[in-house]
Amino acid sequence: MKSIYGKLILGFLASILFSFSIAGYFSLRKNSDELSRLTVEELENSTELIADFLQLIDNENLPKVLNGYASTSEVSFSIESQNHKEVYGTLTGRQLTNKEHQLLENQLGKTITLHDSSMRKLAKSFEVNGQQYIVFVQKDIGKKQMIFIDSAMIAVFCMLIAGSITFLVIADIIVKPISRLNKATNELSKGNYRVRVNYSGNDEIARLNRSFNQMAQQLAKQEETRQQFISDVSHEFQTPLTAIQGFATILKNEKLTDEQRQKYADIILFHSKRLSTLSRNMLQLTILDGEDVKLEVSEFSLIEQLNRVIETQDNLAISKNIEIEFDIPKNDILIEADESRLEQVWINLVNNAIKYTNENGVVTISVKKTTKEVEVSIEDTGVGMSKEAISHIFERFYRQDKSRSVEGNGLGLSIVKRIVDLHQGTIDVKSREDGGSQFIVKLPQVRSFHLSERLMKKDRDNHS
Ligand code: ADP
Repeated sequence: MKSIYGKLILGFLASILFSFSIAGYFSLRKNSDELSRLTVEELENSTELIADFLQLIDNENLPKVLNGYASTSEVSFSIESQNHKEVYGTLTGRQLTNKEHQLLENQLGKTITLHDSSMRKLAKSFEVNGQQYIVFVQKDIGKKQMIFIDSAMIAVFCMLIAGSITFLVIADIIVKPISRLNKATNELSKGNYRVRVNYSGNDEIARLNRSFNQMAQQLAKQEETRQQFISDVSHEFQTPLTAIQGFATILKNEKLTDEQRQKYADIILFHSKRLSTLSRNMLQLTILDGEDVKLEVSEFSLIEQLNRVIETQDNLAISKNIEIEFDIPKNDILIEADESRLEQVWINLVNNAIKYTNENGVVTISVKKTTKEVEVSIEDTGVGMSKEAISHIFERFYRQDKSRSVEGNGLGLSIVKRIVDLHQGTIDVKSREDGGSQFIVKLPQVRSFHLSERLMKKDRDNHS
């Protein structure tokens, strides 16, 4: 049985048949016992009545009365006295054995009851007008039993029909939404992410439908992101490639001066470096996005690291006459983090601060330590950002400056955010258009020492 519909109907029929078999068996037994008891009572009354007839009715009218009684009461009987036996109606099946007969003869008032398939039989001995009689009465209860079985069968049949119709309606209510969901799932698997299912109520199926819609929505969003990513990547690659191809073609011209040749070769070099940075950044993001990305945590001096970063960015700052101010705290700060990845964070942030600050500006770096975290702020007096830009800067390939006048590929801050997230830190941005920007990175502080403690620790390490 493949469909859930078929399974439900089969289950319904099985449960109806099973429960009716059990109910039928017990009620049939109960009915049969009751019928037997009532029939035996009736047979007892019959013997009393026959005794009354024998006593009260004269011999001439007696056979007529007894025959009339036999035909109207559905009771057949025999009356026996002094080896004389008269039968009224038809006696079938088992009769009294000699032993039973003897017992009745010997004990006046004795009663014997017999169960002979559907027949109920009763024999009694009594004395009327000084003469001993043995009356044997019998009645067939088979007909009444059949009537009960017939009405029980009719009830089962009616319940099956009415139950099946009701059940089909209920099954339809249950199965229809599942079939709809199944159809929608097929659509989704074919790539139709716009498919949705309607639902109402709050039962399990409605909840399943709701989850399906959420999943489809999520997949649609992911698909959109994927498409956007592919388009961004091809765009980012296409621009430098077009430049390289163009300038390489120009370079083939033999009439170019040495100066022009130098200039075009530099442009090709610039764009190929851009391509290389782009692919390096993409690779780095892919690694950072991987589920099994691991941080190589070690303990190091944050101050020394920031000093190193400033040194690497010095040339760029000097070329724009930008001053880098570093508020070095009185005490060194040791942190436990992935040293090279964290260095990447500071390089990207300081590099951006210099890149997006006009000549003669200032970039200020400061570090603050609380009991819970270390806070690094990188602030500039640069071009700043609009509110709209701030909400997008951590997205891949996003750049506020669509003209791309400043060198970059829009991946730097995505890398920064990912690394900070991996360190369970946070990054906040405060910025105003033409009012400079401030990036604040907060890292949970696993361990930090005062410089003196650090020196003591170094000392201890050296001794051990
Ligand atoms: P990019 O390679 O373009 O610098 P990022 O991901 O590092 O890529 O930065 C994304 C965008 O955020 C930049 O294009 C720029 O518009 C904006 N941005 C980042 N840092 C600054 C800053 N210090 N001042 C102004 N804008 C910034």
